[in-house]
Amino acid sequence: MTAKIIDGKKIAADIQEEVRVSVAEMKEKHGYTPGLATVLVGEDPASATYVRMKQKRCVEVGINSLGHNLSADISQDELQDLVAELNADPQVNGILVQLPLPDHIDEETILNTIDLGKDVDGFHPVNIGRLAMKGRNPLFIPCTPYGVIELLKRSDVQLSGAEAVIVGRSNIVGLPVAMLLQKENATVTICHSRTKDLAGHVRRADIVVAAIGRREMITGDMIKPGAAVIDVGINQKEDPTKKRGYRLVGDVEFESASEVAGAITPVPGGVGPMTIAMLLKNTAHAAELVIQAQR
Ligand code: NAP
Repeated sequence: MTAKIIDGKKIAADIQEEVRVSVAEMKEKHGYTPGLATVLVGEDPASATYVRMKQKRCVEVGINSLGHNLSADISQDELQDLVAELNADPQVNGILVQLPLPDHIDEETILNTIDLGKDVDGFHPVNIGRLAMKGRNPLFIPCTPYGVIELLKRSDVQLSGAEAVIVGRSNIVGLPVAMLLQKENATVTICHSRTKDLAGHVRRADIVVAAIGRREMITGDMIKPGAAVIDVGINQKEDPTKKRGYRLVGDVEFESASEVAGAITPVPGGVGPMTIAMLLKNTAHAAELVIQAQR
């Protein structure tokens, strides 16, 4: 293997520590404790695990965690009323509605209801719009895309002028990553399921971000020697040596890509740990905005 491993666990731990220090300062200087409200609807085990992890990390950095676990049959109006209550609650700096929501709930309306200053997930259309526009900045950047950029920056990858190819154009990963890289002055190509000659595009890239949801689709022969490769994908691969019968792999074939790339994220231990770290950073930032406004 030739590529440098971009250690997401280590970088996420560094960011978590930075947030812990800034939260301690807010308490000491301003007597202010940031708060994150999590809203979990239903009993999907994966969503429940994500929310528990977010709450645990909040406690570790000194952010108050306020959990709302709701039954799967909650009505649209009841959920909107809860979001309105949290918008008005001064103890709440950030509101995280865990997605996906049940089918009978209109997800877009719920996300639009979240106060712009508490949109720590960064999915409010105004925040996304500002991300897309030149010369404008969102109050909050969506956590996983923010994590991708931090991994690149903290690994000293040159962004300005770089050819960046993003595979995937989802609202939660591919599209915001592309907009962020463009803000950093990279030349960005977005590939998707209708792209012709995907390999040809990826082969030109100094930076490859794979957010496809297809196991090991990007192989070493598609990577330009020395490129930085960020693998957002999380997929299961059968592995009889594991107790649960599978292991996690990314959208990039790590074995072959790491022979060619200059730097690469592993799965697990790359992008995964960054998402919660950036949520903590956004929540602390939301609290800083309130403190500034009170001065
Ligand atoms: P998604 O909404 O399913 O989007 C997948 C994207 O990949 C789409 O834009 C799709 O194109 C494109 N695509 C699908 N097949 C393709 C093909 N054969 N060639 C080129 N492009 C293709 O997925 P997502 O939510 O962005 O998630 C992507 C991956 O990241 C998943 O494995 C997910 O589990 C993982 N993820 C990880 C984190 C984390 O680490 N914290 C967070 C979020 C997601 P079309 O638009 O044309 O359909």
